[in-house]
Amino acid sequence: MNCHRCNLEMVTTQERYRYLESGLTNIFINQCVTHSCPKCNIRMAVLPDSETAAREIARTLVLQKRRLDGQTVLFLRKAMRLKAAELAGILRVDRVSVSRWENNQVAIDAINDFRLRLTAVDRVIGSSGQKEEVDVLKMLICVIMQGHYDSANSVGNEELTIFSAPCETTAPTEISGCMVGETVS
Ligand SMILES: [Zn+2]
Repeated sequence: MNCHRCNLEMVTTQERYRYLESGLTNIFINQCVTHSCPKCNIRMAVLPDSETAAREIARTLVLQKRRLDGQTVLFLRKAMRLKAAELAGILRVDRVSVSRWENNQVAIDAINDFRLRLTAVDRVIGSSGQKEEVDVLKMLICVIMQGHYDSANSVGNEELTIFSAPCETTAPTEISGCMVGETVS
């Protein structure tokens, strides 16, 4: 593809990409295809569409041994399209508890972490109708919570990789350029 500004042929590479567009700071895409203009300092990344990415990130998060942290609780709640009060209702906790988890004021307890993960599997993965996958994920979550759950460390402190192969969806998104805020339509 050519640079939208100077029309020079862009250089295409694959790199490990920190996927900040997800709203999380610790999610990486391996072999992310990027196009850069040798002249303009414009870089474009080929990113997954947000629905696909949300499912993939949810799949990854629910299988972590470390407890969920604020940003991941918030991510899963948004992926489930729930308001804080709605999630609180499902987990039978106070709405304030959900806010405190999301703000990292209070660490989520194991039971609610467990319930939140199961709910996310139903609502994020199950919504696309993959019943077998839902069952497998729930079984794996049970195994983790029974024996390997690490309440002392949070999942936000480790790098998680989604999509180990290049994704082919959507148009490239500009990730850095000399003009801040410039976007490509
Ligand atoms: Zn250019």
